[in-house]
Amino acid sequence: MNTKFGQFGGQFVPETLMNPLIELEKAFVNIKDDDSFKKEYMYYCKEYSGRPTPLYYAKNLTKKLGGGKIYLKREDLNHTGAHKINNVIGQILLAKKMGKKRIIAETGAGQHGVATATICAMFDIPCEVFMGEEDIKRQGLNVLKMNMLGAKINSVTSGTKTLKDATNEAIRHWVANPEDTFYVIGSVVGPHPYPKMVRDFQRIIGDEVKEQIMEKEGRVPDYLIACVGGGSNAMGLFYPFIEEKVEMYGVEAGGKGIETDYHAASISKGRLGIIHGMMTYLLQDENGQIKPVHSISAGLDYPGIGPEHAYFHFINRVKYVAINDREAIEAFRYLTKIEGIIPALESAHAIAYLMKLARETNKEDIIVVNLSGRGDKDMDTLFNVLEELEDGQ
Ligand SMILES: *Cc1c(COP(=O)(O)O)cnc(C)c1O
Repeated sequence: MNTKFGQFGGQFVPETLMNPLIELEKAFVNIKDDDSFKKEYMYYCKEYSGRPTPLYYAKNLTKKLGGGKIYLKREDLNHTGAHKINNVIGQILLAKKMGKKRIIAETGAGQHGVATATICAMFDIPCEVFMGEEDIKRQGLNVLKMNMLGAKINSVTSGTKTLKDATNEAIRHWVANPEDTFYVIGSVVGPHPYPKMVRDFQRIIGDEVKEQIMEKEGRVPDYLIACVGGGSNAMGLFYPFIEEKVEMYGVEAGGKGIETDYHAASISKGRLGIIHGMMTYLLQDENGQIKPVHSISAGLDYPGIGPEHAYFHFINRVKYVAINDREAIEAFRYLTKIEGIIPALESAHAIAYLMKLARETNKEDIIVVNLSGRGDKDMDTLFNVLEELEDGQ
């Protein structure tokens, strides 16, 4: 299997990790087109997570924005509140097939950690989650959930004590325990075969959209929009449409503005480099050190991006744009008020870009936005922000 997408991706890992990666690739190739595996994966997606998620025609939003017809892919209605569980179900079923006895995962905001702890609880497999000390402080609710689900949380105190450090620590732990341990990565990042494997477990989003939009409209959409952290919900939506005549927008976190040092716009502002075993666009300083990142949405707070997105940017197949914190908050409030749907702050970035794009489209156009998750987890953040706004800051 090709480990790269053009010049991006690859396996930039210590030699001791090559054997586990080769073993993983073999197992992945075996199940890729295996009907019984697919059946089992679909069973849990449907019966446990509630798929297929609806493709909702947002009539109020469509009317207000006055352009194309807007559909929302409701990944927020999945069990545990986001698309992440699609991938976790796939990887843990694979881990079971490989005879692995324990699961490890990294997490930033805790969403991937909760999804992993959930599936481990259901299958009764021991689970350890690596999480930065800073993130543990900020994400109390998800930490509590993981504890109740029976996962052990390892507090990571190196570097900025956030997601990139948690990922480093998880990789280190895997190097030391490759025989019995399966490492569940939470996005389309990391060394090959993870970006392809996570893509294949998330493409169920786009596959469903294709079927649903054909049924509702009889044709493919004109525009797809999704937010991009590592890029898994976007890749899941885009991939089945890559050969079709569809315009695609990946929305990065512009934080306090991409002209400042406080954002997570790896494609808009990054340079080619190596992180977590892959060659990709990366926010780094002049010495190649990874820069601290900022976004109001913890799930977009990653200094790199999946290598296939880097490739789609390079060949100009997908357009990558940035939305800042303020615009995302406005979109969060707008969608909540107009449609009665409270989005995750990550997904609100996609909605904010929709609010710009819709105006330039025609009534006949069809736009699909991936609503990657629900906003319950973000209510504290919003509460604090709104208080600040009221204090006139
Ligand atoms: C984690 C997360 C994201 C970002 O991850 P991707 O891999 O880029 O999809 C986006 N939305 C929600 C709700 C998340 O939890």
